[in-house]
Amino acid sequence: MSEFFDTHVHLGDAQFDADRLEVLARSLDAGVGRMVEIADNPDEWSRAVGIARAHPDRVRCSLGLHPYYADRFDDGFVARLRAALDAAPEAVAIGEVGLDYARAQVPADVQRTAFAALLEAARDWRVPLVIHCRDAYQDLLLMLRERFPEPPRERRYWGVVHCFSGTPDEARDCARLGFALGADGPVTYKKNDGLREAFRRAGPDTTVLETDCPYLPPQSRRGKRNEPCVIPEIAAKLAEVWDIRIDEVARRTSANAAALFAWP
Ligand SMILES: [Zn+2]
Ligand SMILES: [Zn+2]
Repeated sequence: MSEFFDTHVHLGDAQFDADRLEVLARSLDAGVGRMVEIADNPDEWSRAVGIARAHPDRVRCSLGLHPYYADRFDDGFVARLRAALDAAPEAVAIGEVGLDYARAQVPADVQRTAFAALLEAARDWRVPLVIHCRDAYQDLLLMLRERFPEPPRERRYWGVVHCFSGTPDEARDCARLGFALGADGPVTYKKNDGLREAFRRAGPDTTVLETDCPYLPPQSRRGKRNEPCVIPEIAAKLAEVWDIRIDEVARRTSANAAALFAWP
């Protein structure tokens, strides 16, 4: 059985303070080998690096500025991000960064200014992106198209649109631009036929698995804290959607994730 790869976890969250090591052990028992710890704002960067450093075979990290915090972007931000990446070889991506028109308190134009600068930094530095997008796919696609007019040549993806929640057409457009799609708990929810159709059409070569834990638990744990050990439940749903074996889901999505983060 191939190992699973959870491309999006927030193990630094206080909800894991009491049992972080047990959570990591449980995920290994469930077949989840590697994961990427996501830091949403500069106050979390060093904690994310610390978690990765403590588990070098299993955890790497991504440093970002979630749209919830986009008003913290200023003239010195890109230079501080560069310095943080240079200081930590464990930091393999920039994110999450992006647009959230559903829940963020920060005005959309402020979000776009920060996101544009971070997209350009990632492109110029050739660092993969972890993108968060909610109710903003039209602007996301416009901004990506402008800055990533061609699919990547020397690698497989420019980044991932994590917790993909758009339409089948938006999934196709993201994939054409060279972005992978992150599948998580919501693909297991009964009402989400549209989302499953988006992943069915996108196919296993464009998809990576994620939990976004402690958020977004799958159907079997709704209302509870989420953990990386639920990845097989998400994979089982996709095996059904694609009509392939779950081991094949593990093998292909883990290969995609390894290529995405250049972590062979
Ligand atoms: Zn997110
Ligand atoms: Zn997240």
